[in-house]
Amino acid sequence: MNSMQITNPNKIIFPKSKIKKIDVVKYYADVAKLMLPFVEKRLLSVIRCHTNINEQCFFKKHPTTEVEFENSITIDGEEYFFVAKDYELVYQVQLGTLEFHTWGASAEKPNKPDIMVLDLDPDEKMPLKHLQQAVEKVRCFLDELNLKSFLKTSGGKGYHIVIPFLSSKNYDKFYEFSKNIALVLEQKYPKIFTTNIKKNKRKNKIFIDYLRNNKGSTCVAPYSIRARENAPISMPISWDNLYNISPNEITIKNYKKYLSEAWKDFFKVNQKIN
Ligand code: ATP
Ligand code: MN
Repeated sequence: MNSMQITNPNKIIFPKSKIKKIDVVKYYADVAKLMLPFVEKRLLSVIRCHTNINEQCFFKKHPTTEVEFENSITIDGEEYFFVAKDYELVYQVQLGTLEFHTWGASAEKPNKPDIMVLDLDPDEKMPLKHLQQAVEKVRCFLDELNLKSFLKTSGGKGYHIVIPFLSSKNYDKFYEFSKNIALVLEQKYPKIFTTNIKKNKRKNKIFIDYLRNNKGSTCVAPYSIRARENAPISMPISWDNLYNISPNEITIKNYKKYLSEAWKDFFKVNQKIN
């Protein structure tokens, strides 16, 4: 990777866990090769924090620097950016980025999404085991549909199930498909799942968030750090490890032992929405 000047390397970004900017840079440099296939040339939004994770954080959707304008495209009158190289990814961290969020579509085909995400958000008090059992139910249902799916931790409270497709015809079809999956699961297991976003409808249930499959919506990228204390990571894991790994246990401090080949066939999957 090209060498790069990092300003304020010792700035503490995660106050309680004392994680510094340079630690974040080193993390992304370390995983850049693994992460790049999931973010390269994919429309991006990023979370940046000017001071630390508790202050002046913002969600940035549009290019503002020269480097970002070089990798940008206009969609429906608005400008968006992407990274194409591993050092561009790390340069984002130099600029203050902590989290990387991607669209379901690439910059090349911004109207033809190809990565679907079902975000499983449990009610706050739900025991982890219940959540894991429910996540397994979603996987089984996808298997019944002959859809290969991949699992990652969110770095927060839940898990993300990611489904790769060949480019879809358009966002409407793609979104409708994800919505139908969620609706059928809700119908099949009404005591476990809800598609109602309202928190008070979520008592003891899991909200299946399919809304992020809409045009312009994003999901945190595989390998992204979360801007939350301890710097948890949204990490690809194997289905076999669903019951062994909790949503926020993988962090910048322990990630090395969790790196795996679980997603190695992600881009070999040839499934499509008819
Ligand atoms: P958890 O397990 O805690 O639910 P998560 O990644 O599933 O983690 P959030 O961190 O709440 O959930 O992410 C919310 C969604 O909204 C993500 O898809 C993200 O890309 C998007 N998002 C986050 N911040 C903003 C923002 N300020 N504006 C628009 N979209 C946002
Ligand atoms: Mn979630």
